[in-house]
Amino acid sequence: MQPLADLPLVLSQSNLQARAGLPEFTLAQVETWITAPAEGGEGWGEVKPCLLVRVTTNAGIAGWGEAFVLPCREKAVAEIIHALGQASVSLQPAWPWVFRDMALRIASKHRGLDFSAASSALEMALWDIYGKLAEEPLCKVLGGHTRRAVPVYANIWSDMQWDATSLAMRASGLVAAGYTAVKVHPMLNHSVTEAVQAVARVRAAIGDEIHLMVDLDTQDDPETSLSVAERIASVRPYWFEEPVDGQDIEGLARIRKTTGMRIVTGEKHCGLPHFRAVLTAGAADILNPDIAGLGGLLDMIEVAELANRQGVKVSPHCWNSMTVAAAAMLHVCAAIPNAEMAEIYPEYVEHGARYATTGFRLDGAHAHLSGRPGLGVDIDTNALRDLSRHFRSSRLTTARATR
Ligand SMILES: [Mg+2]
Repeated sequence: MQPLADLPLVLSQSNLQARAGLPEFTLAQVETWITAPAEGGEGWGEVKPCLLVRVTTNAGIAGWGEAFVLPCREKAVAEIIHALGQASVSLQPAWPWVFRDMALRIASKHRGLDFSAASSALEMALWDIYGKLAEEPLCKVLGGHTRRAVPVYANIWSDMQWDATSLAMRASGLVAAGYTAVKVHPMLNHSVTEAVQAVARVRAAIGDEIHLMVDLDTQDDPETSLSVAERIASVRPYWFEEPVDGQDIEGLARIRKTTGMRIVTGEKHCGLPHFRAVLTAGAADILNPDIAGLGGLLDMIEVAELANRQGVKVSPHCWNSMTVAAAAMLHVCAAIPNAEMAEIYPEYVEHGARYATTGFRLDGAHAHLSGRPGLGVDIDTNALRDLSRHFRSSRLTTARATR
């Protein structure tokens, strides 16, 4: 089978179908679970609700997907998933690219993040099924640049109140645990002066050899970001993420030119036109669309191909569970030639282990994929149901219900 990454940018439904050579399937059932908020591991922040999806085929093969959900939207995105699930039962066969065509048609080119998150979850589950049918890990199905060890970094975002001392301690603790790159969010609830001090304290705590990423979480005033950039330049941030909102492409380009720092953007955006505009404007060095929010793995590969033509890298955003979506992120990073370090939330790992065997092993610097078919993730649905009781969210759509 020819890896999809070797195919032209505009993927043809007919040639993909011809390459598949696998038993065709239809979609018989879609189930969703929304996990309740939970205490994060190691006492650093809370695990947000995560929205997981299981798709079962007419032949009884199950695949897992996950949707990127921002607060208060979990049930709304689940509703979109079930509506798209109903629409998908007529797909014969329900290959991921056939589903994607249908989702794009339904969206009429106006997807929005929540619709894209829903379609991402279903397409991800269909890829999991595809990999299982092909008896190959998804990275092998998707790309010709397969690497089993994917470089990762630790995101030290937290909803807790922190100060420079506790942030520096958390960073040095993660480095002691083996992480070789960490990301901080110094402007969350802090002044410019406090943020600059916090970044300096973290650099002093972790030493010069560790990569330090700085995420400004979309400042309203570009001058604020420029001021922070100037004052933290001496600690050599590995990248400077979202100094302004991703919609402000001109602003991003100006900050990139002025600071000379690697600019990262894209986590809450979807649709190729947006990323094409970012690339055309020379506004980013690294794109980070969310692996479970962009629209699907095919969209992620297309964005990666567009970026690669301009020497821009891709580091999929993954503010999701460290189970299904993280596995999808790692398989994509293993498959594309221009992957940057993949995003890990260390506090979420313990929570995921309560209901999932992920199919990858973290050693801090890398995630090692197991080589199991599809995403390689096993889910204990009883444990997942227990964790989802808070939302009373477990529900299903069946093919029968549509007739
Ligand atoms: Mg960010």
